[in-house]
Amino acid sequence: MNGAAIAIDARCQTSMRNVWAIGDLSGEPMLAHRAMAQGEMVAELIAGHSREFNPVAIAAVCFTDPELVVVGKTPDTAQQEGLDCIVAQFPFAANGRAMTLESRSGFVRVVARRDNHLILGWQAVGVGVSELSSAFAQSLEMGARLEDVAGTIHAHPTLGEAVQEAALRALGHALHL
Ligand SMILES: Cc1cc2nc3c(=O)[nH]c(=O)nc-3n(C[C@H](O)[C@H](O)[C@H](O)COP(=O)(O)OP(=O)(O)OC[C@H]3O[C@@H](n4cnc5c(N)ncnc54)[C@H](O)[C@@H]3O)c2cc1C
Repeated sequence: MNGAAIAIDARCQTSMRNVWAIGDLSGEPMLAHRAMAQGEMVAELIAGHSREFNPVAIAAVCFTDPELVVVGKTPDTAQQEGLDCIVAQFPFAANGRAMTLESRSGFVRVVARRDNHLILGWQAVGVGVSELSSAFAQSLEMGARLEDVAGTIHAHPTLGEAVQEAALRALGHALHL
């Protein structure tokens, strides 16, 4: 055991041969998409493939009003790990799609390493931001830097433009502020 959870290794293997544990009983984060990814991996392991469960980040979303998304490191967790980071925030008050949705409150925030601009985390608050969680997770899994997101053309008017603007702002180039 690992506290109240069943102890597993990076392949969800338990201390018993040919017994794997996935999902909530294997501990935090207790999220459906983590459980599903673990289950898929274990099925592939049993089928003889070589796999390991080693995500850079697993998105946490609160389906509240407004919605909240946290992916990867926050400014606090980055600081606790002794990382020198740039933190930049872009408000939905300056985002065209948020205006058409009549919900200008909230923001997108990015955390990136100061030395090489590697993106370490995203946080967002606002209407519909759960839909941004995929882009956040993708950027972390792909090892994106601020320049990658800032240099990607984002469709207008979308909430995603606030993601690009947060990256631009971290680089000192925000257009709509
Ligand atoms: C109210 C609520 C809201 C949530 N909202 C979200 C969300 O928005 N997004 C998100 O990612 N996650 C959410 N979660 C968490 C998510 O539901 C869990 O992380 C996920 O279901 C874990 O999957 P699991 O397979 O580990 O467990 P479960 O989905 O709980 O599946 C375990 C299964 O085992 C069965 N079982 C238990 N004991 C036995 C037994 N002795 N014999 C046979 N069968 C047994 C149970 O009946 C159940 O069907 C929420 C959880 C709750 C409670």
